[in-house]
This record gives sequence, structure tokens and C-alpha cells, in this order.
Amino acid sequence: MHDDVSRLVGIEGMVVTGVTDHGWWIELEVEMLVRAGCCRWCGRGSLRVKERDRVRVRDLPFAGRMTYLCWRKRRFWCEACARTFTETHPALPARQRVSARFRRHLFDRCQGGGAHAEVARDERTTRYQVDLAFLVAGDELLARRETGPPRRLSLDEAHHRRGRELATVVSDLDRRRVIDVIPGCTRRVIERWLAGLPSEVRAGIEVVSIDPSDAYRHAIWAALPDARIVCDRFHLVRGANTALDTVRRERQRDARAKRPKGTRRSGQHVRWRPELYRARHRLLKASERLTARERQQLCELFGRDPVLAEAWGLKERFRRIYRASSRADAQQRLEAFLVAVDHAGLPAFDAFAKGIRSWREELLGYFDEPTTNGYAEGVINKVKVIKRRAYGLPTFAGFRKRVVIACG
Ligand SMILES: [Zn+2]
Repeated sequence: MHDDVSRLVGIEGMVVTGVTDHGWWIELEVEMLVRAGCCRWCGRGSLRVKERDRVRVRDLPFAGRMTYLCWRKRRFWCEACARTFTETHPALPARQRVSARFRRHLFDRCQGGGAHAEVARDERTTRYQVDLAFLVAGDELLARRETGPPRRLSLDEAHHRRGRELATVVSDLDRRRVIDVIPGCTRRVIERWLAGLPSEVRAGIEVVSIDPSDAYRHAIWAALPDARIVCDRFHLVRGANTALDTVRRERQRDARAKRPKGTRRSGQHVRWRPELYRARHRLLKASERLTARERQQLCELFGRDPVLAEAWGLKERFRRIYRASSRADAQQRLEAFLVAVDHAGLPAFDAFAKGIRSWREELLGYFDEPTTNGYAEGVINKVKVIKRRAYGLPTFAGFRKRVVIACG
């Protein structure tokens, strides 16, 4: 019967000699199948079993129950050199209270983004064991990771803790993995990190995709003068959407300001234009994704509010730049957009266009090297989940490690 149990437990070279049922947990008595044949120190074969230590080690749950392995470890005494030594087995490392595979299991759960405290509670073990499993296996994983110089990098901002400086997530866009998390997002910090890369790695970086941040741009100009900078298109389109939303809110405010003098405050809602508020999502939606009904509603709104119609047209016009077939085509569309903004005279779009003018080269860079920060944005979302499950991460080092392991 114990042969079958040994097979179920599945630790090679170990046999189960007894099972004790303790209700919600069980204890399996195990021992090594073969005795050591010769002395570890002198290599001769005259050994005597001196005593047997009992080592209790936590293992993977067995049939849903918490399981301990109780190993009767033989201690040998060598008649030839009069020294002693104890049996060892790789599945049950010496001086550890958990088996190697249980530690691996804890690490797998952490790697999936589980908070350490949560894993410890679920697995009925201590925070210490979970932290240790994460530390040891995490270091092994990072050391084993195949690393080649990246060709396309992305830099993206992430929050570590509320109220602290932002961190920068550096990802390899081709391998789709996080390379590092840098504490800070200032020009100096990024420049120092980039300059610290080996020169052959720096030479291999051809494209860097970034958010429209001057700090990132200056750092790349200084540390990677040959790399092409591509500004993330989704950030820019979001900028156009923000400008449109500003115009909508201004229209709402204008309507309210026109309230005749002397009317009571409670009369405010008379001037409130609910159709403007209701259209807020519809306005920002991509025109090709609008339903026939939404299109109809927008047309009616634009008939009453030509300023808003103009702003919406500018937003769509900006989006259409990205449908250009070539860089030259895109450049033409961009110039036409900037002219249209000047004609419209909407302050929100003037400000947006000012930003776009200073990022012209990086915007058009997209048409030489169609790169976005989409992967990095996904990482940022994963980071948020990790943080929420961990109820905040206390140290930056722990945060960095967890992000690199979870997204590596
Ligand atoms: Zn010996």
C-alpha cells in the first residue's frame, strides 16, 4: 500500500513508510530508498547508521489537505575516518522548513500577481516563507532570462506610491517584456540609466517610443543621439480628445454665464444644456465607430452648435493623420490640420497645436517606424492590479522586482 502512496507523492528516491491523519492536515513518514554506500569524506564504504533525525517539512497539499513530510534522516558514522554525515535529497533542501516544490508553488502564485500576504494566508504558511520563495526563485529567473540588446525600447510613467515621484517602466517592445523600473522620470535619472547601459546595447537601440514628455526626449537626445524617437500616438489622440472636451465644457459654461441678471440661483438649470453633457462620450468616440443613431444625434447637436461642430471636426482631422499611407502624406495632413486650427481660433486647440508643433518630428516618426506604447500601457495596468492586491508596496526595490518578474 505504501508503494502506491510513494508513487502518488512522487519524490524520486523517497518511500512513504507511514501516513498519520490529523484531520485537516496529514503527515507522511518518508525515508530514502537507498542508503549511502560510501563515506562522503573519505569515499570508503564502512558506514554505520548512528542515529536518525526527524525533519518535518511542509509539502504541496495532498488531496486538498495541508501536508507535512516527516523525514527520518539517517546520520552515518564512518569507521575509517571517524566522521559523520547526514543524508541529503534535492527535493528537501537542508535546514529548510518547506520542500523545494512547495517553494516553487508559492513563487508561481506570487508571479501570477498574488499579494504575498494573500498567498501566505491561502497556503497556510508564513509571510516569511512566501517572501523567501519570491526572492530566491525570482533571482534565479532573472539570472536565467535570455537577454539580447533590445532594438525598440519604450519609456512609460507608472505610479509607485501615491504622492511619490513617478517611476519609469522601460520595456523591450520586440520581446514584450519589462527590462527595468527606474525610480523617477526626470531627465537626469533617465539619462543616467541610459548612459549606464553597455555601449553595444546603446548602439543597438534604434527606436524609442515615449509619451510626449520633454524629460524623456531630452534624455534620449543626450544618451542615444542616433535613436529615432516615436511619440506614442494614443497619447496624442488623447490630447485632441481632451481639447474637444474642454471646448464642450466651455460651451456649457458660456450657456450658464448668459443667465439674465437678477434670476435666482435655482433658475440655473434653465440654462444648463443637458444635450451637451449627454453627448460627452459620443463626441469622443471615433467617428467610424458611431452608430447611425449616434451620428444622427451628433448632427442635430452640431446644427445648434457650430463651434462644437468645428472642434469635433478638428479632432477627427487629427485622428485622420494616422490613416496616412506614407510619411509625406502624413506630413501634408498634419500641416493642413495646423492651418485648420489657426482658422478655428479655439484656445483649447491652439494649445494642443502648440504642443504638436514641438513634437512634429516624433509624431511623423511613427510613419517610419510604426511603434506604440501599447505593450507598456498593458504593463501599467498590470502594475495597478499588483499594487491593489498587495495594498501598496512599501519599498521601491520590492515594487521593481515584482514588476520585472510579473512582466518579464
Ligand atoms: Zn570516511
